[in-house]
Amino acid sequence: MRILVVEDEDSIARGLRFNFEREGYQVDVVQNGLAALELHETATPPFDLIILDLMLPEMSGYDTCRHIRRRDAEIPILALTARTLSEDKIQAFDCGVDQYVTKPFSLPELLSRVRNLGAKRRRSLEQQAVRSAEDVTRFGAITVDFQRFELHHGELQHQLTTREQELLRYFLEHDGIVLSRARLQSEVWKDSTDITSRSVDNFVMRLRRMIEKDPSSPQHLLSVRGTGYRFFREPAPTDVY
Ligand code: CA
Repeated sequence: MRILVVEDEDSIARGLRFNFEREGYQVDVVQNGLAALELHETATPPFDLIILDLMLPEMSGYDTCRHIRRRDAEIPILALTARTLSEDKIQAFDCGVDQYVTKPFSLPELLSRVRNLGAKRRRSLEQQAVRSAEDVTRFGAITVDFQRFELHHGELQHQLTTREQELLRYFLEHDGIVLSRARLQSEVWKDSTDITSRSVDNFVMRLRRMIEKDPSSPQHLLSVRGTGYRFFREPAPTDVY
């Protein structure tokens, strides 16, 4: 876990660094808000947690927190401060602080809160990873990366347009179902006036060239005579139509 400590009191900063490093964390220390904003923006790998003193010279800890939150809604921020009034705490939480520890603090309590925020951070990153993995779909020899608009067919890679991607996603979501041209126009093109059933056919032909081994004898994206199309994730049974 990588921690950014924003603290202008040297003795406290050194104490935090020592104890966090002993826990196995990677620690960076800055003395003011501007340096914190800059480092938060440029750090690779990014920080997992920010320990923020609220009484800082020039830009206050509150303003620093507000600026960081505008760019990063997710990173846990723990405020560390000598201020103990309820309205100070309220102001801190309103700026986007997640936890609040008053000085002088108990070290075991601070470390426990840091571990807790770190675990929450890991869970949220894992969930993000699962969500983006769901945006990659495989069928037959095809891999579609919906985030990158890429379609891989064996060694070949195709770049999808927004509409091609939407049409392909719609077919994937309606595996095995007969879809009329009118339904595709209405669901994928939202009945936009610049689409005709002829252009639906053109889009289907383009998709076939990307996903079919032999576009003239499709296995996945079949024509239904007089109606429209039917998509199969698995190669279509030969006796369908
Ligand atoms: Ca201070």
